[in-house]
Amino acid sequence: MSDPAVRSCARCDKPMDPAYRPFCSKRCADIDLQKWLTGAYAIPGTGTEDDSEGDEAEER
Ligand SMILES: [Zn+2]
Repeated sequence: MSDPAVRSCARCDKPMDPAYRPFCSKRCADIDLQKWLTGAYAIPGTGTEDDSEGDEAEER
């Protein structure tokens, strides 16, 4: 009997935990979240702070 309410983790196909849906655990949720974050922030906002360029080098 397959309960339609019980779904599998979006990442590893383990039984989904309602607390972390659609994942089976915080770990899988974190992994997926990080994937999104790193994807969104993979390229830092460069070019908008040209003025501060060189500050770090001079500080040394
Ligand atoms: Zn999982």
